[in-house]
Amino acid sequence: MTPEEFRAAGHELIDWLADYRTRIPELPVQAQVKPGDIKNQLPDRAPRAPQPFSSVLTDLEQVVVPGLTQVQHPRYFGWFPSNASLSAVLGDLAASGLGALGITWQSAPALTEVEEVMLEWLRELTGLPATWKGVIQDTASTACLVALLVARERATGYSETGGGFQERDRPLTVYTTAHAHSSVVKAVALAGYGKANLRYVDVDTASYAMRPAALAAALETDVANGRQPAAVVATVGTTGTTAVDPVAEIVRLARQHGAWVHVDAAMAGSALLLPEMRWLADGVDGADSFAWNPHKWLGTVLDCALLYVADPEHLIRVMSTNPSYLRSAVEGEVTQFKDWGIPLGRRFRALKLWFQLRLDGVEAIQARLRRDLANARWLAEQVEAAPGWRVLAPVTLQTVVLRHEPPDHHEDALNAHTLAWADAVNESGLALVTPSLLDGLWSVRVSIGAEATTRADVAALWQILRQTAEA
Ligand code: PLP
Repeated sequence: MTPEEFRAAGHELIDWLADYRTRIPELPVQAQVKPGDIKNQLPDRAPRAPQPFSSVLTDLEQVVVPGLTQVQHPRYFGWFPSNASLSAVLGDLAASGLGALGITWQSAPALTEVEEVMLEWLRELTGLPATWKGVIQDTASTACLVALLVARERATGYSETGGGFQERDRPLTVYTTAHAHSSVVKAVALAGYGKANLRYVDVDTASYAMRPAALAAALETDVANGRQPAAVVATVGTTGTTAVDPVAEIVRLARQHGAWVHVDAAMAGSALLLPEMRWLADGVDGADSFAWNPHKWLGTVLDCALLYVADPEHLIRVMSTNPSYLRSAVEGEVTQFKDWGIPLGRRFRALKLWFQLRLDGVEAIQARLRRDLANARWLAEQVEAAPGWRVLAPVTLQTVVLRHEPPDHHEDALNAHTLAWADAVNESGLALVTPSLLDGLWSVRVSIGAEATTRADVAALWQILRQTAEA
């Protein structure tokens, strides 16, 4: 494709995307396809000759769009907000168009330095400690894996430089709660701790947050049994109920045992842009690492996860590589992000943050986040006031966990009822919610925060929920 052909096709694509974004409210929220429906519409072999751009656009329209659950839809209340703000989309497009090679500072100095500045802008905006440094990772899952790898190495005196942690006789242990994201369990397994060495610390029965006393007991028991606590993963805003683990207390206890504290604020990190929500991360200045996803509620388009660390030397010590072909004269003067994570080659992800913050402005983003928090509180009030309905967890952020509980329904019948009405809502295409287990019973999570969601959409959802569950 020549630049001139790109210009023509690019204009068409932007027009198509703008039209698509305009008509999303008319589309079903949940994709109405069955497994294999999309694959069956695609040819078995790649085309041998070029095809016209118009045929690609037609397939986007006819094959791809019906195969998407519309997470940019104003009545998308599923999993968690996965906003793709159009300002950030432009930044993502610019990043691809520039085609920069992010392997060392030298290969794309702007890629590294814009990233450093964006991480600093967002550090200041979220109130994280001024001495912390950050790096963009693809996802919170990778950020957690990186943190646990580094925690493992710090706990073992950097055993990777010798025979590795396998040569040690004190098993390393990791602590979190059963409400932590599944990516924590995955990271524990991938970093080689072994799932048997992951402790699920008890949570408070009302708030679902980690109980410090239970953490203290778990740490002491393990030490008494010849084990070595290596890391605690605290969650600020759990996936299920947006519970907030008490970071300050966790830091205090972990420090007594030299354990690394990683804070996973994948969803809730966006809330820290609001000064009145900074309490969520009270005590974070004593933690070792902190990750959150602008690609969720903030709107920076998958994938963009920020990992902040109190001391980047730990990352560098564990992950730096310096083959001859990557060396340059500026070594020591510049940041080499290849040494702050797993991949060598990195995309210019900072551009989408840069575009979004500049084109939308921080104040508009803050207003949107406040709107969503207020909408969640409003919905919770409606649910509490409606006979037969219950809010099941504190509404700390933008998620409302609820259940319709007809008087004659117990356990099995209640579970069947909840799953049936949630499925009916989702299959209608009118709105999307997520059923999830809480205390062994099915509940429904309403995660508010799609960029397009107004109070009217939340009110419409509440009507849909009542009509479907009470029918
Ligand atoms: N941590 C929490 C608390 C989450 O809610 C999620 C997303 O669902 C993740 C981690 C995983 O995020 P990612 O998809 O960026 O790996």
